Amino acid sequence: MNAITDTSSKGAVSTASQVPVELLDSIEVGIAVLDRSFTVQVWNKFLENHSAKKAHSVIGGSLFSHFPEIDETWLRTKIDPVFNLKSPVFIIWEQRPYLFKFGCNRPVTCSAEFMYQNVTIFPVVEKNGRVERFCMLVYDVTEQALGKLGMEHLNEELKTASRVDGLTGLFNRRYWQERFDEIYKLCVRRGKPSTALMLDIDHFKRINDTYGHQAGDKVIQMLAALIKRCVRETDLAGRYGGEEFAIILNDSTLEDAKVVAERIRQLALRLTVDHEGETISFTVSLGLAQFSEDFNSAMAWLECSDQALYKAKESGRNQCCVYI
Ligand code: GH3
Ligand code: MG
Ligand code: MG
Repeated sequence: MNAITDTSSKGAVSTASQVPVELLDSIEVGIAVLDRSFTVQVWNKFLENHSAKKAHSVIGGSLFSHFPEIDETWLRTKIDPVFNLKSPVFIIWEQRPYLFKFGCNRPVTCSAEFMYQNVTIFPVVEKNGRVERFCMLVYDVTEQALGKLGMEHLNEELKTASRVDGLTGLFNRRYWQERFDEIYKLCVRRGKPSTALMLDIDHFKRINDTYGHQAGDKVIQMLAALIKRCVRETDLAGRYGGEEFAIILNDSTLEDAKVVAERIRQLALRLTVDHEGETISFTVSLGLAQFSEDFNSAMAWLECSDQALYKAKESGRNQCCVYI
């Protein structure tokens, strides 16, 4: 019984010349033949080895009683076309990572927890043209799957890296600008109040000159962390330039934004950065501009917050000014 008939593109056709058991057992593909009620009729060596279930213990029993991890309703529906249309069915690992929960082939060299599988199911067409059985081919595609998943993960990391400023972990200027353009368009459409905030460290050149560039970097990093703590997930904070930060406070009026800006200013004032035994203090200036329908571009809006920042600098620094 442990043999299978030769195949055609549509399905397997029962003939007198059956495939020898040796061939079924030497192939690195799982082969099983089942009848309509999912009773197992053929179970080759590959399946024996990976399921740790001998053919004689599986054959004659229901597939679902031996492998309760298989979703019975789903599989029965899935193979409907095998009987109804006499056409093959494919299950690929991207859809479902596996049909049988087998361990990974090479536990030492392989990082997968299980064997990824592609499964082809095709009808076994009897001499009378009827289909009473089907054949399942189970391919181990773990290496291929891990390769693809690894690549996807890498691409995801590259995407994140291309959006983020390396020193601060905030969005970089290019990505920030892209997102800001989208926010601007939403503001135009919905007329929701949002406020743009520009921040610049006061006399930062002096910090670099007095304590060195590395100390300056540390100040930028600490300030970025402070900004992250002060804004919401829905806000957009980015490093706009060397020691300049741009933040869009979404769904915030000028009054709401003033509270946030003032909190950032005061926390920055109190923040001390330790570097090589020195304690560095600094202040920041901030400029705010609430979205207005008069702004005919995102840049026009940002320039208004920059004008307010300029005013804060002109008025003595360490303060928040608004564009009106
Ligand atoms: P102001 O109060 O008018 O803003 O004075 P400022 O000294 O901060 O003036 P300005 O904005 O012109 O100077 C910024 C300096 O920041 C100049 C540049 O050398 C320095 N800088 C830019 N990027 C970095 C960086 O990534 N790390 C460090 N340490 N310094 C940077
Ligand atoms: Mg500057
Ligand atoms: Mg500055």
